[in-house]
Amino acid sequence: MKKLLVVCLLFVSVFSNAQQTDYVDFRRAEALLVFNQLAVDSTTYNSYEIDFKILKPTDSIYIDAVNMKFKHVALDNSTATFKNDGKRLIVFNDFKPNESYKLSFVFNNAPKKAMYFIGWEHEGKNQIWTQGQGKYTSNWLPSLDDTNDKIEFDLKFLAPKKYEVISNGILKSKSDNLSNILWEYDMQKPMSSYLVAVAVGVYNKKTETSKSGIPLEYYYYPEDSLKVEPTYRYSKQMFDFLEEEIGFSYPWQNYKQVPVHDFLYAGMENTSCTIFSDAFMVDDIGFNDKSYVNVNAHELAHQWFGDLVTATSGEHHWLQEGFATYYALLAERDIFGDNHYYFKLYESAVDLGRQDLAGEGTSLLNAKSSSLTFYQRGAWVLHALRGLVGDDVFKKAVKAYLDKHQFKNVKTSDFIKEVERFYGKSLNTFVDVWIKQKDFPVDAAFGLLQNESTFINEYLMVDCQAKTSKCEEYLKYYVSDEAKVKVISQMPELVTSDTFKHGFKVRQAISQYVRQIPKAIKEDYETLLDDKSYVTIENALYNLWTAFPEERAKYLSKTRNVVGFNDKNVRLLWIALNLNTPFYQADNKQGLFEELVGYTDERYNADLRMNAFNYLNLMDACNDTCKSNLEKAKSHHNWRMVKFAKEMSEKLENKK
Ligand SMILES: [Zn+2]
Repeated sequence: MKKLLVVCLLFVSVFSNAQQTDYVDFRRAEALLVFNQLAVDSTTYNSYEIDFKILKPTDSIYIDAVNMKFKHVALDNSTATFKNDGKRLIVFNDFKPNESYKLSFVFNNAPKKAMYFIGWEHEGKNQIWTQGQGKYTSNWLPSLDDTNDKIEFDLKFLAPKKYEVISNGILKSKSDNLSNILWEYDMQKPMSSYLVAVAVGVYNKKTETSKSGIPLEYYYYPEDSLKVEPTYRYSKQMFDFLEEEIGFSYPWQNYKQVPVHDFLYAGMENTSCTIFSDAFMVDDIGFNDKSYVNVNAHELAHQWFGDLVTATSGEHHWLQEGFATYYALLAERDIFGDNHYYFKLYESAVDLGRQDLAGEGTSLLNAKSSSLTFYQRGAWVLHALRGLVGDDVFKKAVKAYLDKHQFKNVKTSDFIKEVERFYGKSLNTFVDVWIKQKDFPVDAAFGLLQNESTFINEYLMVDCQAKTSKCEEYLKYYVSDEAKVKVISQMPELVTSDTFKHGFKVRQAISQYVRQIPKAIKEDYETLLDDKSYVTIENALYNLWTAFPEERAKYLSKTRNVVGFNDKNVRLLWIALNLNTPFYQADNKQGLFEELVGYTDERYNADLRMNAFNYLNLMDACNDTCKSNLEKAKSHHNWRMVKFAKEMSEKLENKK
């Protein structure tokens, strides 16, 4: 009896510790997803077929499939014995090693996450998009939550005619099917399931071709044609640069970028199909403040680091995020120059140092590390490592690492091993200090910056808190714009008429830090309202309106047609200031107030809604419509919106 119990426990523990990847290798999946309308549809069945090879004998295999229903489950075309436990489809059979099988079924899904149906109450703004990482593709498509089994996914979609359907791989065919279109996508190589994606919506696209012949497809909303150039600026240059710099050809058939409404993150590197937040769709002015360049480069770099080679587990997450951050930085260096590169490294070193001081630092190999650690410390590791081993060794090692592990999974030691091989020496000390130890080596990092960049040396030298006597001169004479910004942030009272003659960043810093405007610089300050920056205009309008009440009408008239980013930052401030300027356009106040309340409606993007809610809250003017929209916002798919709505509701309650 006792013995039996032990045997049972053993059996249970072996079963739960074994990885399915030891027993079965899934090869290729083919699915047809039907979107009769762009909404969750519990009546539609989608079809699915997957090939796999058995590595070790087993009596069952499973596929992750959350909250789905199955019919016609068949193994090699014969009815199969299966169980659906709500999380997995488990198929029972006497599976023999080295044999290949084909599993097929039809399934119905009703995803609560990972696939999002956006704005479908509002004609024309309908979208479907997916987010697999962190949310699991298995919520909408039977697949594997484990990143360690890579599958070739060939997906087909049936969708109403007016929509574009964009997914992984190349579009093999597009054919009419009554009122729908059948879209057939083809991948040639395998990927981890979290990288499978689809976006459905009304889009146009612009296509370029890389130097190496890869088609680059830039999607956009039809009404955004003027934003295409600024949004996608440098895309081709960065693509060509990264292929050359990494030294390994882009591994997929094409590269697509698709903006979507209220995305959960800045961007997501789905294989050959990056999805990004449409907040990055900017015009020529918005480009100066909030460009897509960095996110664009980061997601592109992931196509190698993350998609081609994928970390085996969270412990090695920096092999994705650290590499993507580092290579994005290199691509930006190619566009914006060395100073930009070193300044970003400087900023991240400061942040990492602060994180340690707050007691929140972790080893880079801790799966629970902050994004700051995975992304910025990871990038720093590569910068420092390259400095140590030299360009030549570094590039050879990266290429060898990709060659050896392409379409497979990797650990930190896989990368280090390649570098050591070309370097010819052990990297143990380097790994201990830069990767393993809890604290970021902040002194070593600053030492590198000071050795490598006179620009950073100068920036560190300019410090008005340590030495005020020279600061007036710094604003006049030649130090970098970044150093001038630092002076202005420390001693805004030093700004004179001459300071306005400097560049974009200096003028923006004036709008940000010089909030009490002396009469002597009033006229110069007013010129900020003409700057090509929505941040500068927003700051300057508010500060001028506050400082010179007698001129309010003038400032409002000058900025009445400026809208700003996709959260309409300038427009909303303008409305709020107008409502607080009684003598200005007195008869139009009600209309403006209704416009402001209107922006809280669910047909607008989350950033705009939050901005509008904030102003209404500040003005103590959240009326019934505003309150009812706030209530609806609590069930939004975007967690930032939900958090905001709950917090603001609480504030309103407390005010009562
Ligand atoms: Zn990333």
